[in-house]
Amino acid sequence: MIELRTPAEIEAMRPAGRFVADVLTRLESEIAVGVDLLDLDRIAHQMIRERGAESCYIDYHPSFGAMPFGKVLCTSVNDAVLHGLPHAYKIKDGDVVSVDFAASVDGWVADSALTVIAGTKDPEDVRIIETTRKALEAGISEAKVGNKIGDISAAIGDVCAAEGYSVNLDFGGHGVGRTMHGDPHVANDGRRGRGLKMKAGLVIAIEPWLLRTTDELYTDPDGWTLRSADGSRGAHSEHTVAITPDGPVILTQRSV
Ligand code: MG
Repeated sequence: MIELRTPAEIEAMRPAGRFVADVLTRLESEIAVGVDLLDLDRIAHQMIRERGAESCYIDYHPSFGAMPFGKVLCTSVNDAVLHGLPHAYKIKDGDVVSVDFAASVDGWVADSALTVIAGTKDPEDVRIIETTRKALEAGISEAKVGNKIGDISAAIGDVCAAEGYSVNLDFGGHGVGRTMHGDPHVANDGRRGRGLKMKAGLVIAIEPWLLRTTDELYTDPDGWTLRSADGSRGAHSEHTVAITPDGPVILTQRSV
């Protein structure tokens, strides 16, 4: 079901967006060689407690999950790209680390993700991260009243294709509101002019992610972490965006 938010409700979603942005800003500054993924989860958990927010992940237990997620953050390193379950692992020089964080403040959810490199940067890792960022920007620029969801998908897919990446359509963006995952699905490639026509008040997470040399995933034995089929590295960029008469509003925008 597609739910539309009133202008007052979109205003009420801003604190959640700001909180999620603040947590990611903090995590971005903490990611470094030698830092443990569990430390990143602890930092996010502490910020949740201090803010009186609620984690969207800790009790998350969809039908495909063997058990509740149990952590507040997704940490996906190198060939892991989505849904990474934090575990005891110290970040190494050159690691590509994606963090995806969703939390609820005052009953409203925001969801955002970023990817950073710890230490020495491989130019191909820089390129794939930059491509997901550019694809996210391109997708957001199409998140306008009267456009179709397919316009967002096509804009994302075009940026990825221009850089020579192939896009997986199994996991993509989604509606965001009182819960983390709602309709519509926002695929990371598609056809212009197709799909739901966007109206003011639609709030969606847009989240391009890519793998260097494949578009196939497999699930790690931990039951959650999604890894590339060929061991190649990935990247992920995500924002929660409100469609308004004045254009797209990025609720999870980090200050620069
Ligand atoms: Mg997310």
